[in-house]
Amino acid sequence: MFPFFDSRDRPLYNNSPVTAALTDYDIPSLEARLGGDGFLPSHASRLLKALYRGNGTIDVESLTPGKRLLARLTSDLPPRSSQLIARHVSADGTTKLLVGFADGNAVETVLMPSHREGVAAGCVSSQVGCAMGCDFCASTRGGLVRNLTAGEIVEQFLHLRAAAASAGRRVKTLVFMGMGEPLANFDNVVGAIGRISDRRLGALGRRQITVSTVGLVPGIDKLAEADLNVHLALSLHAPDDATRERLVPPNRRYPVADIMAAARRFRARSGRVPTIEYCMLAGVNDSDEQAEMLAGLMDGFRAHVNLIPYNAIGPDVSGACYRRPEETRMQRFVGILRERGVVAHFRATRGDDVSAACGQLRETLASQPTASS
Ligand code: SF4
Repeated sequence: MFPFFDSRDRPLYNNSPVTAALTDYDIPSLEARLGGDGFLPSHASRLLKALYRGNGTIDVESLTPGKRLLARLTSDLPPRSSQLIARHVSADGTTKLLVGFADGNAVETVLMPSHREGVAAGCVSSQVGCAMGCDFCASTRGGLVRNLTAGEIVEQFLHLRAAAASAGRRVKTLVFMGMGEPLANFDNVVGAIGRISDRRLGALGRRQITVSTVGLVPGIDKLAEADLNVHLALSLHAPDDATRERLVPPNRRYPVADIMAAARRFRARSGRVPTIEYCMLAGVNDSDEQAEMLAGLMDGFRAHVNLIPYNAIGPDVSGACYRRPEETRMQRFVGILRERGVVAHFRATRGDDVSAACGQLRETLASQPTASS
């Protein structure tokens, strides 16, 4: 077992898959299943290509292997296990999808239109709920419910592709930055990346994929060793252990120095420039001293700092009420970083009017009698 622990130091175990669907298979594993069922294994590739072409549905008429195969296979194996429960579109075009699974659980997945015409960025969840306990995050309020299967992650990507197509766009980049800690569900995340980036299936380049983490050091090293060629985003949010432990409890196990060392190892092994995510909270992590400390962490380390103005979610996990810093304070903070030679930008918060902060749509809908769609 991978040595991960939740915010109360309890070990995390992988859950077994909940509902089997065609999205649970890659081409080799479906070939093996078809062979065992007496069909030609070569049908697997055509079947899965049709599934991905249809963004999770299969056009039976277009299938060369024939309806008999499909009828036999899909009698106990539906094309996908999820459905779209709700779809909210914000004024800036950000589309938030609530994707529901057969066991009644749901996760959020987000499509953000690019400023460039015709393309969009997608964001997928990797777990239902989250055990990490970040104090400013809505996703962790109910703790971890379960890991998503690789197929369930793939299905979010397919829902995003369908939503993008209906808006005249295509998904150009994908981040694992929704609900959950991707590196605490390592095998399923890697399995999903394999299918999403397979030229015959999802066909999204691995350079277009980013895995985000709160800093699970063994997971960062394992991701580097896997040589997936994906990007790494590190949710740092504070440069000192005292502040970070309050905001991101896993810091007690993996302190800032260890996390930054792992990010440097990832950079050295993969050649990829990591992104340091820093959610700006008034009076908590936005002081001049903390800007200097952050700049110190970046000494001799080529990485991009993304400053994210906080998206208020009301009282937080510890009961604190965080606020977004004043504009002048944020400008002063980024100014110090840039003076010290750090590459730093503000990331625009998108879709505020559709509860775009992590886990907010799921919470909002859970508190309503019926979900809108
Ligand atoms: S910010 Fe991410 S890792 Fe932290 S509790 Fe929320 S979903 Fe989990």
